[in-house]
Parts: sequence; C-alpha cells; structure tokens
Amino acid sequence: MTAIQALRGTKDILPTEIGYWQHVEATARQVLGRAAFREIRTPIFEQTELFARGIGEATDVVGKEMYTFTDRGDRSLTLRPEGTAGAVRAFVEHKLFAAGGPQRLWYCGPMFRYERPQAGRQRQFHQIGAELLGSGDARADVEAIAVAVELLNHLGLKSLRMLLNSVGDRVDRATYRAQLVDYLTPYFADLDPDSQDRLSRNPLRILDSKVAKTQEICQEAPSILDALSPESAARFAKVQQALTDLGIAYQVDSRLVRGLDYYSHTAFEIQSDDLGAQATVCGGGRYDGLVSELGGPETPAVGWAIGMERLILLLQQLQPLTGDRVDFYVVSRGEQAEQQALKVAQVLRQGGFAVEMDLSASAFGKQFKRADRAGAAACVILGDAEAENSTVQLKWLASGHQEAIAQVDLAAKAEQFRQQITQQISQ
Ligand code: ATP
Ligand code: MG
Repeated sequence: MTAIQALRGTKDILPTEIGYWQHVEATARQVLGRAAFREIRTPIFEQTELFARGIGEATDVVGKEMYTFTDRGDRSLTLRPEGTAGAVRAFVEHKLFAAGGPQRLWYCGPMFRYERPQAGRQRQFHQIGAELLGSGDARADVEAIAVAVELLNHLGLKSLRMLLNSVGDRVDRATYRAQLVDYLTPYFADLDPDSQDRLSRNPLRILDSKVAKTQEICQEAPSILDALSPESAARFAKVQQALTDLGIAYQVDSRLVRGLDYYSHTAFEIQSDDLGAQATVCGGGRYDGLVSELGGPETPAVGWAIGMERLILLLQQLQPLTGDRVDFYVVSRGEQAEQQALKVAQVLRQGGFAVEMDLSASAFGKQFKRADRAGAAACVILGDAEAENSTVQLKWLASGHQEAIAQVDLAAKAEQFRQQITQQISQ
C-alpha cells in the first residue's frame, strides 16, 4: 500500500526540532507576560465573513489565499489566515473593553493560507502575535514595537532591521491614494497584472510589489509621508523620537504599506538578510478602524505578528539545539528484573526524575549503548541477582562509579541523586 504523506505546504515538527518551538513559546510567554500582555486562544475556524470584513476583500489574503469551505450546516467557514481578526472578535464578543483601560492580548498558533510553498512560506504556518487595544497614544505604538524587539533580542536575534512608516489616517490615505493613482495610471501598461488589478482596488499595495519593473516605476512615486496632515506627521515624529530614546534602531521606508486594509498611522516590519526572499520576520502596525468594523465600539489598537517558521530558521542558523536527555536509563534482563524495573522507573519519576526504560530485553551491552545515546546521567541496572535481593546497581556514566542500592531506599535518596546528576552534567 502507498503511504500517505503530509499535505503540500504543511510540515511535521519532529521531536528533534521541537526544542526550538518550545524555547520560542516559553520566551514569548515570559517577555510578553512581563509587559502585561495576557494570552488569548481563539478558534482555528471562524465565519468567513469575519475575515472578509476584518482583513478586507481587496487584500491578497482574502482575495486568493483563504481556506474556505462549506460545513454540513451550509455555513461558509474559513481556517484563520491570521490572528488579529479572531482576537478582535473575541474582544468585542466578550466586551473586554468594558474592563476599562487598554487590553493587552497575545496569541500563538497555526494559521492557514493557500500560497505557493517555499522556504519560510507554508500553507499551515505559525504566528506569535500581540495586540494592544484601547489606546491611540503614540506611546502604545512604541510599547508594542518595543515588546516585539525585546522578544527577538531575548532570542539572540540581533542583526535584524526594522522598517518604519506612517500611512496616516483615513483622510491622509484618501489624499495619497488619489496622488498615487494619478502617478501610476500613465504607466498602466508597464505594470504587472497583479498591480494593474490593484490600481483600482488597493493601489497602496502596488508599492509592495516584488516585480522588478513595477518596483522601478514606484521609485519615483509620490511619498505618503508628504500626504500626512500636520497632526499625523507630528504623531509619527513622536513615535520615532520615543524609539530613538529607547535605543531601538529603525529606518523610515515610505513605501512600506501593510497588506491589510484596517491599518492606520504606524506600520513596521522587522526583516533579516538571512532568510532569502522571505525576509520579513515580523509585521505590524496600528489598526484603529478594525474594532468598530467588527461591531465593537470605536477602539484604537496596535499590534504585530511574528512568523514562527522564519524565526526558527534564523535560530537554527544561530545555535544548535541541546538535545533532550534523561536522568536515569533503566536497564533490565530476566523476567523478575523486568517486572521490578517498571516499579523502579515509577518511583524515580515520582521523585521528579526523567527516566527512560529499556524494553528490548537484549544483552546488557546493547542496553548500555542505548543509555549513552539517551544522554543519561546514570544507568539503573537490574539483573537476576538484583531482582533476587530487591536492589539495583546504580552506575554513574561519566565517572563510572557504581553502587548497590536497596529498591526501598530509592525514593529517600532523591536529594542525593539530584546533586550527583548536577555534578555529572558539569563534568
Ligand atoms: P509576506 O509578504 O511574506 O507574504 P504578509 O504580509 O502576508 O507576509 P503578515 O500577514 O503580515 O504577512 O504576517 C506576519 C508574518 O507572518 C510575516 O511577516 C511572516 O513572517 C509570517 N507569514 C505570513 N505568511 C506566511 C506563510 N505563508 N508561511 C510562513 N510564514 C508566514
Ligand atoms: Mg502574504
């Protein structure tokens, strides 16, 4: 029979690499927790309308990347392509705004987009995201950005570049949109087909095109920064000053526009040169229009999302994973010894140790080899003689020191073992 394989664009995360994921998740929990962000977990699928409204029909995500299906009750559902829409839906549905003061939320989990798979681009991928809802202050933008930078720093990723821009408010963008369309229309025939399509639907996105000829045309396009009202410009200056005060480096890039319709004012991306074409690790910005768009009260908000696959690609280049090891490896041979070994493993696990049992019943020599491979600090050995008098032989692998211990004494010796394990590891 032919074996079934994982779908194109999806990946198994194997035990050999899970350590990176756990490390990233634990670090995120710590860094975001210190900044008073609280975790939220929302469903993986939602009504399609949530994303159509929350992300915008004219975006690539809604236009051509969503996993949408009809369920048995004839409802149109979609696997979430990003986390903000669901978090905001929950914020509105559970009236989290009623708590007063800003709400800081973060999430982590799989997202789904129908894309052409390549390194750093999958159909099921993972994001860590943070949302600060309920403050329109420029300091909120700075706080959100600073937390993302802190997380990446904490993970040891320092050679990253932040691009920063302001896309202004609705009025600024309407002004700019008209200027941009005026500028691009004479070049219509030279634009790539996607950009031609965007000229009427979502012209700001053309600035983000990866097609060389389109990029060349955009070089001379008017800058959105020149279309900002004095208030919007002052706000952007405030964000920049505060980032500088915090020692956070950035480059202003007036062509940086996020793909999603609800963004306003601050937009930013954090990129790496070590990721090939998929350079953006983190993208985010302010989205003041979204909460009301989804039926909640007018609520300014700012947030970001980090792509975990890309982050982990960078971590893998940086540091090898220290493999999982066990404290004790239980080796046994002979029927009675094998029975007792189960109990011995149980006692040691209840004492807080990581214990791996050898189930092979093979020669002792082979079992010892596996103990080495498991990175055990000590072997617990049970043969016929030990089974007969209810003892075990404890062999510390680094020093070779071996001692006999009564099975009934194992639990009481936990403290002593802990010290010996620490010594063994530091040898
Ligand atoms: P891109 O331009 O790379 O498609 P995007 O603008 O669609 O990115 P966002 O919606 O802002 O991406 O998502 C935030 C981050 O999530 C991205 O910067 C990236 O790190 C990650 N990401 C987005 N799509 C994918 C994907 N298909 N596979 C892996 N990571 C992804
Ligand atoms: Mg994309």
